[in-house]
Amino acid sequence: MIAKSMESYVKGSSVIRAMFEEGARLAKIYGRENVYDFSLGNPNVAPPKELKDSVIDILESEEPTFVHGYMNNAGYEDVRNTIAQHLNKLHGTQFTDKNILMTVGAAGGLNVILKTLMDPGDQILVFAPYFGEYRSYAANYGAELVVVPPNLPTFQPDLKGLEQRITEKTKALILNSPNNPTGVVYSEETIKAIAAILNKKAQELGTDIYIIADEPYRELVYDGAVVPYLTKYYKNTVVGYSYSKSMSLPGERIGYLVLPDELADFENVVSAATTANRILGFVNAPSIMQLAVARCINASVDINIYNKNRETLYQGLSDLGYECTKPEGAFYLFMKSPLADETEFCQMAKEQRVLLVPGSSFACPGYVRLAYCVSYDTILGALPQMEKVMAQIKA
Ligand code: PLP
Repeated sequence: MIAKSMESYVKGSSVIRAMFEEGARLAKIYGRENVYDFSLGNPNVAPPKELKDSVIDILESEEPTFVHGYMNNAGYEDVRNTIAQHLNKLHGTQFTDKNILMTVGAAGGLNVILKTLMDPGDQILVFAPYFGEYRSYAANYGAELVVVPPNLPTFQPDLKGLEQRITEKTKALILNSPNNPTGVVYSEETIKAIAAILNKKAQELGTDIYIIADEPYRELVYDGAVVPYLTKYYKNTVVGYSYSKSMSLPGERIGYLVLPDELADFENVVSAATTANRILGFVNAPSIMQLAVARCINASVDINIYNKNRETLYQGLSDLGYECTKPEGAFYLFMKSPLADETEFCQMAKEQRVLLVPGSSFACPGYVRLAYCVSYDTILGALPQMEKVMAQIKA
């Protein structure tokens, strides 16, 4: 018998698997090129060439027992130092290797910091719509996810809604900008306003409230959008970063946490997070990937490819009469469902071989998400299909 707590997760993952299998089934019947699958955030842009060259060089030139061995649970010291210096150069911060903990992607990092901070019954605030896995990660540690409802139609954070929901049990706020699923980027003004609210409430309540900045999409921004570095605006900020999207390495499971000196209870947080990395069973982040990302610290994928997809998809869908939020970052487009029940709309789109994710998966029913990390031909092929769906709805 499996644990009762797992039953709903298993059901949830079979829904995702069913969608995946449906895509495969349609591809078999109609050919892969005639199925327009916007359901997965799996990058279609190749990792930078430097990455492959680095991996090969590491394997050829480094001592195998070093490359494949255990290291400090926080990661290789020189890798952490390279990342710290890189961040300092970009953001004018003062990090050292002691502020960096290498993790198994963003998901690993989030689990490490939640294990570090959360006691059962503690609350984590999040703005809807949000990456659905946060709910499972919170539950892993008995914490409660408290959702600030979506602020329509801009999807910028609802600051009043945030303030109203802060209690003495609030331990953290997860911020995800650029955002999955909306592609929205939070401005400096918004970040300052959030910091002011958290400072005021923490002082009133005599508590510490951490911001957990989940930033796997930091570099994927368009039209010159600026993503403020949160540690500069709020002292209790932990940044979770991942190379899954910026270097197209989601299968390699590599990222890091930034734990600034200014954090409340800094020394203990660092020790606990390093221990959490071990006792959650990660032990350490993958060794070859740690060494490889440090060697190509300035490399990134070609975001012009995503930008071209973004422009064509946004313009194309808008011209067909769909109401879209123009994404400023990440590789997702969030669109209002023309039908009140967005799952019904997803079904209609699927009949035209276009696969979308219902907004209810992100605590935002009435909307759908399109992941445009797909080939340009997929975008071009999907638009006439979406025209047919709109015609059916209007008929
Ligand atoms: N956070 C957000 C907002 C994401 O969209 C994702 C993945 O899609 C993750 C975290 C997990 O990323 P990783 O593959 O680095 O664990």
